[in-house]
Amino acid sequence: MKVSFSPPSITQREIQMVCEVLQSGWITTGPKTKEFEEKLSSYCGIEKTLCLNSATAGLELVLRLMDIGPGDEVITTPYTFAATANVILHCGAKPVFADIREDDFNLDVSLLEPLINKKTKAIIPVDFAGIPCDYQSIYGLIEKKRKIFRPKKGSPQENLGRIMILSDAAHSFGSVYRGQKAGSLADFSVFSFHAVKNLTTAEGGAVCFNAIGGIDSAEIYKKLRLLSLHGQSKDALDKFKAGSWFYTIETAGYKYNMTDIAAAIGIGQLERFDSEITPKRKEIFHFYQNQINGNVIFPFEKDQEKEGNYHLYPLLLKDPAKRNPLIEYLAKNEIAANVHFIPLPLHPVYERLGYRMKDYPSAFKNFQREISLPIYPDLTQSQMEWVVQKINQFLREN
Ligand SMILES: *Cc1c(COP(=O)(O)O)cnc(C)c1O
Repeated sequence: MKVSFSPPSITQREIQMVCEVLQSGWITTGPKTKEFEEKLSSYCGIEKTLCLNSATAGLELVLRLMDIGPGDEVITTPYTFAATANVILHCGAKPVFADIREDDFNLDVSLLEPLINKKTKAIIPVDFAGIPCDYQSIYGLIEKKRKIFRPKKGSPQENLGRIMILSDAAHSFGSVYRGQKAGSLADFSVFSFHAVKNLTTAEGGAVCFNAIGGIDSAEIYKKLRLLSLHGQSKDALDKFKAGSWFYTIETAGYKYNMTDIAAAIGIGQLERFDSEITPKRKEIFHFYQNQINGNVIFPFEKDQEKEGNYHLYPLLLKDPAKRNPLIEYLAKNEIAANVHFIPLPLHPVYERLGYRMKDYPSAFKNFQREISLPIYPDLTQSQMEWVVQKINQFLREN
């Protein structure tokens, strides 16, 4: 039985919404994108959301907005997709990695303090597999470090007066931490709506924020939107109104806007998110927790503080030597599994920059023994059973 890893969940609802946009006469950034932004803001309990064509774009724009660049340092995890750290490089700043906690793969906050110095401008925690990081401790730490913070003159961070927390929430749409939704847990939070994520627009992303450092959220929205579309004083829809041809380029901005076609998929997904998408993932998660038998460590699910969104099922094998053979064995049985993630110091680009895997022992340990199993709304009962049957067979025989 063929089991793919993470196909998107698309129903008649998304198809209908996309067709409406295609027939509406307006297919790029416009009313649907606005509607999606407003729906995301109210879902996350946050003042403003700007939709973009990727999470990568969102992470970069926030760093650019804050004027983070050469001479600055940004702390993040080595246990993430390259996008998180690549954007730091794009801005000319230096990524500084802190090791993770083995139990939930998230930044080990107890390791951050010695990494903070006068150059530190931001911390980018990554909510791995949808489990929110320990934001309360991170905020506690940066409050304590206010005195050593040195903002660039004239940058928005001067008003903020402290290190910025930019949450890479690419995995955590719908997750909850201390009663609040992901999107509202940091100064800025960035979601990914890439095709493999738990809410998709094919390609897409969003930045969520409240007022920060004395700048209100409408002003931040305006600045980010300007940066996202060539620095044009008018958005595309305004520009195409009759008689409204004049615009100015305020800054050499980027081209990161979301299309209304993508937004329509997102609106359809959001309608089904709490009623269908997450419950189905949760059911599969519990099925694996209850049925898999062998020398394994089950993924973190929740505690009193936080609950994830069941975006991934990152199983750990106690014997790392079995990980690759298990992936091959599953592949022979037409089951696609994956590994999240290959830590960044193992990639040539980060190795050349001087990062060494041995400096992040927990990240390396988890990488060697991790296997991500298929978990998505269209996975059928018999597919789930097949996956479990093959895993248990492998673990019994090896
Ligand atoms: C997918 C992912 C991203 C990038 O998302 P895009 O929307 O493809 O730019 C960033 N960080 C993490 C942790 C991811 O998994």
